[in-house]
Parts: sequence; C-alpha cells; structure tokens
Amino acid sequence: MLCPTCRAVMIVVEQDKIELDYCTDCSGVWFDSGELELMLEKMGLDSSALSIAKLTGSPQAETLEKKRRCPICGRKMKKINLGKKPKVLIDVCPRGDGLWFDGGEVHQIIEQCRGKPGSGADSENRVLTFLGDAFKAEGQSDLPR
Ligand SMILES: [Zn+2]
Ligand SMILES: [Zn+2]
Repeated sequence: MLCPTCRAVMIVVEQDKIELDYCTDCSGVWFDSGELELMLEKMGLDSSALSIAKLTGSPQAETLEKKRRCPICGRKMKKINLGKKPKVLIDVCPRGDGLWFDGGEVHQIIEQCRGKPGSGADSENRVLTFLGDAFKAEGQSDLPR
C-alpha cells in the first residue's frame, strides 16, 4: 500500500495481532477499519467513540490541509476533527475503509481516550508501549520513556 501523504511504500507492522500500515518516511499510520477499535479495546480504552460509522458521519473539518486519497479505494478522504482539546485532524475514507493519522496524531488520540475511571496514565503507557514495540524496528527513538 502506498502512503497517502508522501506515496512511499508503507510497511506492515504487526503487533498483538493488529496489523498497521506504517510509513517510514513520514511516520504516518493507516488503520483499517476495526484495527483502531481493536487496539483501543485491547488497551481497555473506550472504542465506541471511534467507531468507523461515527467517524465517516462526522462533519467535514475546515482546514487548508491537502486532501488525501484512501490507499484502498482511491477516493478522496474526508477530514474530520477528533476530540475537543486539542482537536486532532485525521483523514477518514468515505466508504469506511479506514483512517489515516499523520505522524504524532496517534498519540494525541490516545491522550484523549484516557480519563476513563480506572484506566488513566497506565493506559497511555500501554499504548505507548504497544506503538513503541510496533515501530521499534524502524529505529524510532523519539518516543518518550
Ligand atoms: Zn508517508
Ligand atoms: Zn477507501
């Protein structure tokens, strides 16, 4: 699959049976629909807020960012804002194929899924560990320790 941002060939990263497509050039991550929810569920975080139907139904965000095409069906993806503060701008396929996160946005999303009673900072740590393990092979060393 080609990166919707920079057109580099993405690599498949498998972690905990979840397959993500990762661009080593721009650190963007593609989640097939369901994979994001699966990841959040595994982390014990609330995944209902991130269901694909809900995301594709969200209002188009106002932004000057260039539209990107879905790496699966080639349609222009919709820009939507996730969360409240700060908002995270992600791209979602209008057919619901999946979601695209620019490098760094995944962490922002995770931040916003915290705050459930009993999860807290520990969930974030688990997600960071998950992503850290998944992307360790790329020599990324900018994850906070
Ligand atoms: Zn890229
Ligand atoms: Zn698509």
